[in-house]
Amino acid sequence: MEAKIEQTQKLLTSHFSKLIKENMLAHAYLLSGPAGTGKTALALWIAQVVFCRNPQDSKPCQQCDECLRIKDGNHPDVVVVEPEGMSIKVDQIRYLKSEFSKSGVESRQKIFIIKGAHKMTMSAANSLLKFLEEPAGQVTAFLLTDEPNKLLPTIISRCQLFELSELTKNQLVAQLVEKGFSTKIGNVLAALTSSVNEATAISEKENFEKLLSVLESWSNKVIAKDDIAFVFIQSRLLPLVKTKEEQELVVKLVILLMRDLMLVKFDEQNEVIFNTNLKLYQEKMLIFTTRQVVDALELCLGIPKKVERNISFQNVMETTTLRLLDIFS
Ligand SMILES: [Zn+2]
Repeated sequence: MEAKIEQTQKLLTSHFSKLIKENMLAHAYLLSGPAGTGKTALALWIAQVVFCRNPQDSKPCQQCDECLRIKDGNHPDVVVVEPEGMSIKVDQIRYLKSEFSKSGVESRQKIFIIKGAHKMTMSAANSLLKFLEEPAGQVTAFLLTDEPNKLLPTIISRCQLFELSELTKNQLVAQLVEKGFSTKIGNVLAALTSSVNEATAISEKENFEKLLSVLESWSNKVIAKDDIAFVFIQSRLLPLVKTKEEQELVVKLVILLMRDLMLVKFDEQNEVIFNTNLKLYQEKMLIFTTRQVVDALELCLGIPKKVERNISFQNVMETTTLRLLDIFS
């Protein structure tokens, strides 16, 4: 059995397993990186390397009692603290300290992990700082954050900093699928953002899936040169778009749809995002010239500027539709 983190954060896992092998683990680390990059998984994996009974090639076996207890969150020497509500309170840090002081075996290594470390209140941070300055015994701290700039400089200066690399597009899609999204929605979301949290937030917008399906049929009508595409804007699209944010989302999706056309034209089908349109796109691309496809994409890339200039959104989308119908005729 192999932990996924060994693939997604290859450099860091091998760095830490080497450190542990050489008995060089420091007192405090700050692991920073966007949501979904595996900060918690990495910290737990490192704890497993430290405690595993049968490490293989300096990697945890994932099968022994120690590995399993760490994975399940009930290992006495590995304590995880996370925000309660909006913050990590001083009592939580006090609890952490007491957990570590009551343990009998002095020489045993202990590890604590603070998730969302930037959410510590000022008094929690100060209490932790004292702990980092005078650790009781062999303690290693992992502070995890996606907003390192919000941490007290005094805390940062106590830690060794490691930045986790962003997920590749494929890793992000895989994570989204694991969270229950379809591959198609995962692909669309991964084209819009590189953060798992942001992707989830976008998907939770009211009408998100409806919006996708309306835009997909709009794009199909446009390239089929069906004038109904124009009517679609007012009758089906606008009722779903109320805020400036939603307008921006629509524009991004329209650009992605036209980008798909270009990809099909240049035989890069594997990169296509809205694959439900693929068959029609392929048919049409036998007829359309490269010039037409480039013009269409160029036109759509110009939409954000128009929306910024506060020209009415309906107006922008309707004019764009008319121009597209013209380009494809
Ligand atoms: Zn093990």
